[in-house]
Amino acid sequence: MPTQPLETLFRSEVLSMSAYHVADASNFIKLDAMENPYSWPEDIQARWLESLKTCPINRYPDPEAKTLAIALRRANGIPEQSALLLGNGSDEIIQILLMALSADAAVLAPEPGFVMYRQVAQSLGLRYQGVPLLADSFQLDMPAMRAAIAESRPALIFIAYPNNPTGNLFDAEAIEEILAIAPGLVVVDEAYAPFADASFIGELGRYPNLLVMRTVSKLGLAGLRLGFLAGETAIVEQLHKVRLPYNINSLTQITVGFALDHGEFLLEQTQTLRGERALVFQALQGMPDVQAYPSAANFILFRTLNQAAADVFASLKAQGVLIKNLSPQGGLLHNCLRVTIGKPEENQAFLSALTAALK
Ligand SMILES: *Cc1c(COP(=O)(O)O)cnc(C)c1O
Repeated sequence: MPTQPLETLFRSEVLSMSAYHVADASNFIKLDAMENPYSWPEDIQARWLESLKTCPINRYPDPEAKTLAIALRRANGIPEQSALLLGNGSDEIIQILLMALSADAAVLAPEPGFVMYRQVAQSLGLRYQGVPLLADSFQLDMPAMRAAIAESRPALIFIAYPNNPTGNLFDAEAIEEILAIAPGLVVVDEAYAPFADASFIGELGRYPNLLVMRTVSKLGLAGLRLGFLAGETAIVEQLHKVRLPYNINSLTQITVGFALDHGEFLLEQTQTLRGERALVFQALQGMPDVQAYPSAANFILFRTLNQAAADVFASLKAQGVLIKNLSPQGGLLHNCLRVTIGKPEENQAFLSALTAALK
C-alpha cells in the first residue's frame, strides 16, 4: 500500500462510488444484457475468418478507422456534413464527451435512464442532475425539464431514444423543444435504433447542438465494442483531442466493416427479435400479476403487482433464467424487472418460469 491513505490519493467521488456490477451468467438462459442471442450463419463466419487473415495485427490500427467510418455512414444514413467520432463502445463516447467538458459543467438526464451517464459524470466530479420521468407513461416531464435546464444550465443533456430501462420512445416534439432551449449539447443516444422506427439522424442538419450516438452492440456485435457519435464538425473536433489515438482496435475495424457489408443476416435477426418482442409483450399483458410497458427496444420492462420483484427475480434465477432486477434503483423502478428478448425457446422458458414464479 502507498504511504499516503487512499482518501488523499483519490477523488472523494471515486471513493464513494461502486464499480459497475455485471452478474455472472454462466449456465443461465441469459436475458439480462440486451444482447442479440443469435450467432452468425456458417458461410458468413467462414468468410469473416478468411478476411481476418489479412489483418496486420503487428501494426497499430488506423487511428481514424477510415474504411469503417465509410461503412458506418452508409449503413446509418449519416449526412455527409456531419463529423464522426468512433468509440470503444458508446460507453467510451460518453466518457470522452464528459472528459472534454469544463470542470464546473452540469450534466442533465431524465431518470430512470442509462446508468453510465450518472456514473461517468460523478467519477469525473461533474455536477449531475437527474430529472424524473412522468410516473405513468415514462415520458419526459417537460415542466420539470424546462425548470432544470433554466436552473442548472447544463453543458450536456443525455436523452436515450428509446430509453433504457423503460424501453419507450419519448415524444419527439418534447426532444425538439429541449434541443431548442438547451444552452449546451444534446446527445440523443440511439443504442436501440435497430429495434425502433424513429431517429434524430435526419435532424442533424437542423440543430447545431444535436449529437446522435449509436452502437453496434444491441444490433448483435456487443463483443466488438464499437459506438459512434455524429454531429457538427466544430464540436466533434474537440472530442477527437480527448480520444486516445488507437481506441478502435484492428480486429473490430475489420469485423464491424465486414458485418455491415454482409448485414442482411443481422437485419433478419433484428426482425425476428421484433416479432418475438410482440409475442412476449402480449404474453406479459395476459398475466394479471404484472404490468408490462410497451417497448421500442429489444427488452421489455415490467412491474410485479402482488409480489416483491426481488422474489420473482430470485425464483426465475433458481429456474435458470437470468433477467435484470431494477427494483434496487428505487423510485419509478420500484418492483420493476427488465427482460431482454431472446430466441423463441428462451422467451418461452422465461414466460414459463415467470408463470411459475407468480404462483
Ligand atoms: C447499452 C447502451 C449503451 C452502451 O452501449 P455500448 O456501445 O455497448 O457501450 C449506451 N446507451 C444506452 C442507452 C444503452 O442501453
